[in-house]
Order: sequence, then structure tokens, then C-alpha cells
Amino acid sequence: GNESTVSITVVGASGDLAKKKIFPALFALYYEGFLPKHFTVYGYARSKMTDAELRDMVSRTLTCRIDQRENCSEKMDQFLKRCFYHSGQYDSQENFAQLDKKLKEHEAERISNRLFYLSVPPNIFIDAVRCASSSASSSNGWTRVIVEKPFGRDSESSAALTKSLKQYLEEDQIFRIDHYLGKELVENLSVLRFSNLIFEPLWSRQYIRNVQLIFSEDFGTEGRGGYFDHYGIIRDIMQNHLLQILALFAMETPVSLDVEDIRNEKVKVLRSMRPIQLEDVVIGQYKSHTKGGITYPGYTDDKTVPPNSLTPTFAAAALFINNARWDGVPFLMKAGKALHTKRAEIRVQFRHVPGNLYNRNIGTDLDQATNELVIRVQPDEAIYLKINNKVPGLGMRLDRSNLNLHYAARYSKEIPDAYERLLLDAIEGERRLFIRSDELDAAWSLFTPVLKELEERKTLPEYYPYGSRGPVGAHYLAARYNVRWGDVGIEH
Ligand code: NAP
Repeated sequence: GNESTVSITVVGASGDLAKKKIFPALFALYYEGFLPKHFTVYGYARSKMTDAELRDMVSRTLTCRIDQRENCSEKMDQFLKRCFYHSGQYDSQENFAQLDKKLKEHEAERISNRLFYLSVPPNIFIDAVRCASSSASSSNGWTRVIVEKPFGRDSESSAALTKSLKQYLEEDQIFRIDHYLGKELVENLSVLRFSNLIFEPLWSRQYIRNVQLIFSEDFGTEGRGGYFDHYGIIRDIMQNHLLQILALFAMETPVSLDVEDIRNEKVKVLRSMRPIQLEDVVIGQYKSHTKGGITYPGYTDDKTVPPNSLTPTFAAAALFINNARWDGVPFLMKAGKALHTKRAEIRVQFRHVPGNLYNRNIGTDLDQATNELVIRVQPDEAIYLKINNKVPGLGMRLDRSNLNLHYAARYSKEIPDAYERLLLDAIEGERRLFIRSDELDAAWSLFTPVLKELEERKTLPEYYPYGSRGPVGAHYLAARYNVRWGDVGIEH
């Protein structure tokens, strides 16, 4: 018959990402019944492992969500039976041909669809793509390749990578993953905007004073700084994750929800952006800090980082979109490691109410009168809107309160990991959450000049203590545009 199968090959199956994210996401999809009837998972890497050893490794990383306890271990066993391992070199067509042979046995003459997940360091991408496409492509179905960041480290290397990939793959076979796009609240951004009357009409320079995109981690590189040191926080977080969110946030209404319509609008935003000025960027690096008798290491205390490294572990930047909707509105980005908190959020600060009757009644700080919409992407997903409200009672005293949509309280279901959504989309051929080549080019064009300038000038990062709020320069940068970071001060 013409039944089809999907074979998912995790290239680099012995690695960290495979264990932490890919296998658990595949299992969750299987548990929920999202994987096709006929599917096989293959691990591929140089390490020697038997199928049983791979299953053992994978089984130790699988968990059941709170709402999935029912016959979970049974399901795990069934899933593990579908997992296999093939040991091979990444640059050996012969080894991939052996994999091909094994995949064919599982496919048993059905239509063969193949998904390769490249979970290996970037210097191996091209070898693996060349060998997989020449020796292990499907002959009668589709072949798709998921590629992980980094997609180069500047415009030139990114273009070279794309060019090499396109020697072996068509654009529609390449799935560049940006796992931020798979996050529930990032997906929800367009729903919020385009399906509620009360947001879209306010979504412009007319009513929005500034937009803040904030990412922070409360830990450092912790002995795994080798990769990071070559890239730094601007490449690792801003140029991809935060810029993608910005583009989704700021785009015009797409013609439809069709993937190309959305990506077209995102590219327009990226191409309308004003070149980033060096003075609109602040960089920082965390230093050792002792608190409560515990000494937290500085970035350069990490043995995998060169002792004189100037790589930023923190950056803040002011960006502008030169179009009719956003002219003059600062989009402030802030990203850092080893900060006081772990979070990712979008903050929208609205303009002051003109001629506000109640100004005199609002505390001492005029700034408080501004409405602020916060979309907290992680952890503890939430959307809340800060409004000015009358404190109940006689007299007229105002405070700021939240209209609050707290996901954990509203939805009892656990939120799927971003990797689940992205893997499912790749299997289904849905490209909306993956990055097209021209989007990637536009994103690099924006950041490459300022990255080059920082590196050529050997700009010193501002040092900030591990576990702090980051360098004070970020506040001066915001103040230059009359902005106060929304995540500083009273928190909820
Ligand atoms: P990893 O553990 O360092 O590497 C994955 C596997 O690749 C290793 O188990 C190893 O398998 C092989 N490998 C490592 N170094 C190699 C080398 N120099 N030459 C040949 N093979 C080598 O990487 P990862 O953390 O899983 O990440 C995989 C990819 O995802 C990378 O591109 C990374 O940038 C990206 N990524 C990772 C994360 C994360 O959370 N870890 C997040 C976002 C993106 P064998 O020795 O068995 O062949």
C-alpha cells in the first residue's frame, strides 16, 4: 500500500541537547499520540553504543508530565522499542549508507519520510548534511534537516553556511530552529494582537512609548564556556531569539496565517531597522562575587574561557524601526547571564494619558501612571496589564494593579516544551516557526557591523557581580531614551 513512515535521525545523539531536549520531546509527542503510526527514531554519533545502551541512556531522561501519569512507564517501553542507534563518522558516506540500509528495513517498502536533526557542533553541519543527503535521503518521500544555532557568527559566515547547505538541500528542506519561536507565549503574541480589538489599535508609536525585550539567566557558563566564548551574548541571544520576537511583535498584519505571509512581514520589519549605533549598545561581563559565604565564579574563572576574554555575557541595546508605525519608538533589548533572576519577557510601556486628571493622586512617581503590558515568556508564563486603579474606600487614592492572566492558575495543563512543537511542525512540514534564509541574512546585516566594531575596538565590557542586576550602563542607555526598565523596582 502507500502507507508512509517517518524516520527521525538524531545526529549527535550522544550529546547534551539530544538527551536534554530532543528525546524527551519525541517521547512527549509519542505519548500524546502526535507521532505517525509508523515511526522510527535513530540515534547517530561516533560514540559506540548498542541499541540497548541508547535506550538506557534515553530512558534516564524521559519524564512524564503531571497530567500524563497514566500508564506512563508502559508508554515509555513502547517508545524505547522504536529507538535504535547507529555509530558512524559524520563525514562518511559509507556510514550513512549503512544507516540508510537500516532505515529501509524499518520502512518496509512504505513511503519513506526522513527527518535529520543536526545536534552537533557547527563545524560538522556541512559534512553531516552532505553525507545524509547523498547516502541516506528518502527515495520516495520527503527529506528534511533541522539545523540548530549558531547559523554562522556574522553575515559572511552565515551566508557561506547557507550556500553550503543549499549545495545539498533545497530551501524547503532546511528547518533552522529558533526554539524561542516554539514557546507558548511567543506563539500567542499574534493571537493576542490580531484577535482582540483592544490591542491592535494601540500597537503603534501613537500609543506605545517603548518596548522592552528582556532575557536573563541566573547562572553563568559553569565550565561550558568554550562554545559561548566564541559567540558572546549578542550572537547567542539577541541576534536570533530577541530579534525574532521583535519582528513578530512589530510586523504589519500579514495577509494570512500562511507561513510565507508571516515570514514576509517579519523580513520587512528587519529590513526597516535603523543600523545599530555603537553608542546604543552596552556590554558587560560578570565577575566573581561572594555572598553569604559562597563565592560565585567570574566568567573568566571558567577553565574553558581564555583568561583575558572580552566576550560579553551581558548586553543591552536600543533599536529603532524606521517605518510609519514605529518611527521613534525605542525597542530596548537586554540579555545576560549570571544575573539575579531567570526570565524572558516582553514589556510594552504605553504613553501617559494626556491631561490626566488624576496625576496628583498617583503616589509620588509620575512614571507610575503609565500602563504596561507584560508578556512573560518564561518561567511561570503570564500576561498582565498594569492599570491605574482606585484604592477602595472613601477618598481618592490610586494605585497600580494588574489585570492578570497567570497560566498556571488559568490552564491546568502543563505547557509543552518548545522542542515538542518544533519537532511536530518539522514532521508536518509546517515552517512558520523556522527561519528562512532571507530572514537570517537580514538579522545578521543588522548586528554584524556593530559586532565588528566592538571587536575591532576591543571594547571593554562593564564588569558586574555574579547574581546582580547587570551593569549600570544599561540604565544610562535606557535613560537616554527616557525609558526606565520595567523589570526594575516593584515586582509581582
Ligand atoms: P555537544 O554535546 O557538544 O555535541 C553533540 C555530539 O556531537 C557529541 O555527543 C559528540 O558525539 C559530537 N561532537 C562533539 N564535538 C565534536 C567534535 N569536535 N567533532 C566531532 N563530533 C563532535 O552539543 P549539544 O550541546 O548537544 O548541542 C548540539 C547543537 O545544538 C550545537 O550546534 C549547539 O550549538 C546547539 N544548541 C545546543 C543547546 C543546548 O542546550 N545544549 C541549545 C541550543 C543550541 P560523538 O563524539 O559521539 O560523535
